[in-house]
Amino acid sequence: MQVKCAICGKEEQIDKLNKNYRKMESNPNAIFICEVCNQKLTYQAAQQNDLLKKK
Ligand SMILES: [Zn+2]
Repeated sequence: MQVKCAICGKEEQIDKLNKNYRKMESNPNAIFICEVCNQKLTYQAAQQNDLLKKK
């Protein structure tokens, strides 16, 4: 299945082993975020949490 990352626009081919496959298959309009952007978001969220804790 061909999917496109909603953030960087990179097109990717995912198969049934991909954790996003079921979600994308059941809802073709679901937002796909590639592994790279996913990690960036997780990292940014963690940093923001750290900042909030320090206040
Ligand atoms: Zn991406």
